[in-house]
Amino acid sequence: MESRISIAVQKSGRLSEKSLDLIRNCGIDFYADSRVLKASANGFPLDFLFVRDDDIPQYVADGVADIGIVGRNEYDETGLSLCVVRDLKFASCRLSVAVPHGFDYQGLKSLEGKRIATSYPRILSKILKENGVSATPVVVSGSVEVTVDVGVADAIADLVSTGTTLKMNGLEEAECIYKSSAIMIARPDISDDKKAVLESLLERIDAVMMARHKKYILFNLPADKTEEAAAVIGGMKSPTVTPLMDAGWVSVQSAVDEDRFWAVFEKLKKLGAEGILVMNIEKMTE
Ligand code: ATP
Ligand code: ZN
Repeated sequence: MESRISIAVQKSGRLSEKSLDLIRNCGIDFYADSRVLKASANGFPLDFLFVRDDDIPQYVADGVADIGIVGRNEYDETGLSLCVVRDLKFASCRLSVAVPHGFDYQGLKSLEGKRIATSYPRILSKILKENGVSATPVVVSGSVEVTVDVGVADAIADLVSTGTTLKMNGLEEAECIYKSSAIMIARPDISDDKKAVLESLLERIDAVMMARHKKYILFNLPADKTEEAAAVIGGMKSPTVTPLMDAGWVSVQSAVDEDRFWAVFEKLKKLGAEGILVMNIEKMTE
């Protein structure tokens, strides 16, 4: 019988939807109901375990699940050593030091002797130690941003994605000390059969991730502008150029990085490109 692997995914929270979307985009079909603990995929040997994100690294370490998707911050905070098989690049956030208005922050040394509230004492202590700063971590499991106001801490180290919550609580983001995003972790001692299933899942994930930041463009171009257009598009491979019935024109197609897309688009228009068609890419390999 073919081996199945199990994946621990956050039941409900900032990681849940994107974790499940990623797996769905891998062409793996399943039915997830947030009220249940388990689910199984159809047509791919993958079983799901829906749990709190804090528990995911330990479940993977104990073999309750073979792999898991969790924030790098949660994983590092546990101190466990598992295999980080992919950085999935979503749910990005930073652990930042935030101080009340009027606190003269001059870098980490300004925290010497201070009380710092955080939910990530292990990560914070490591960073303080590396910088030769000795401070007292005040460990709280939530609402870190109110601790200064209520007088239990002088500053905080908390996860931030936009900074709005900090501002609402009279704090200023002083310095980012650590960056996180969702990662896929795996048990180091997974069997060869399961490893093969994991490899096949990772191959699909890579194809989805590679396509995520690309667009596919297709346009008509005066034939004598082909070289210039290829230079504008850049990238690893040259674009595909097909002659049109009208001998003076060609049709060009290529993948373009999303972050360069608008710059490329404008330059192609200047070269005389017409009928520019832009498409999302679902999956892609190198
Ligand atoms: P659970 O109920 O599963 O324990 P939680 O409340 O601990 O959920 P979420 O708030 O859903 O967790 O956050 C999950 C992860 O999302 C975090 O560990 C972090 O990696 C990431 N994240 C992204 N942006 C933020 C943010 N602004 N604040 C907190 N976490 C963030
Ligand atoms: Zn949690």
